[in-house]
Amino acid sequence: AVAARDVRKTFQGREVLRGVDLDVRSGQVACIIGPSGAGKSTFLRCINNLERIDAGTIEVDGALRGYRQQGGRLHELTATELARSRAGIGMVFQGFHLFPHLSAVDNIALAQVSVRKRDKRAARDRALELLTRVGLRDKAESFPSQLSGGQQQRVAIARALAMDPELMLFDEPTSALDPELVGEVLAVMKDLAASGMTMVVVTHEMAFAREVSDLVAFMDAGVITEIGPPSQVFDAPKHDRTAEFLARVR
Ligand code: ATP
Ligand code: MG
Repeated sequence: AVAARDVRKTFQGREVLRGVDLDVRSGQVACIIGPSGAGKSTFLRCINNLERIDAGTIEVDGALRGYRQQGGRLHELTATELARSRAGIGMVFQGFHLFPHLSAVDNIALAQVSVRKRDKRAARDRALELLTRVGLRDKAESFPSQLSGGQQQRVAIARALAMDPELMLFDEPTSALDPELVGEVLAVMKDLAASGMTMVVVTHEMAFAREVSDLVAFMDAGVITEIGPPSQVFDAPKHDRTAEFLARVR
């Protein structure tokens, strides 16, 4: 579960997040839509502690992110606390960021050994299991350069899942793909949603958002201005800005 309250973030004097509130319960899928520059990626990066927030709070599964309360004051997490809190969150980006010199199975096994302290054999077994789950068991020994973009992104999803995350964040995971490869990645994400994973997905794939989300959030100029079930946001948006955006992307 994610609970964000009045999250604020300023870059070089410009407030990019201007009080973001979001609640995603355990097992729910929330899709964030909205125009370029709205702050969608920045917000995901704040959830994952890749950016520190300037004000507000973000809790993931009841644990405060980035800060801890001590005597009524906020203190930054230590490096160890930060690493531990990040391990419970998987993130998948637009680019796949696989290690080019490692095979698919080794890409998935690596952090299990270094971060999760699994032995190499157990990490490899888990990696093969996850490759099967994303439909790529036969590509275990292939290197990223030998895989299509859709296959690389499925390996990246498997790699995130190998850390046994409680929450998965996706930032436009299909935007860099040729159109014919989008479906195979969305299918893996649909499976994941059906398995009960808590997910926050920034996407321009409106059909996916409608089908899979419990919540659709429209972010504009650093705030979530509209949020609700997909039927409400897509079919009966309350704000003109939401309707205008939807008219442009559909
Ligand atoms: P897109 O749909 O294009 O991906 P977005 O909604 O994800 O857009 P962000 O990438 O979060 O938007 O960016 C929000 C604003 O913050 C933009 O104006 C961007 O230029 C600015 N920004 C993001 N990261 C930084 C940074 N590290 N330093 C300075 N400005 C930044
Ligand atoms: Mg972005």
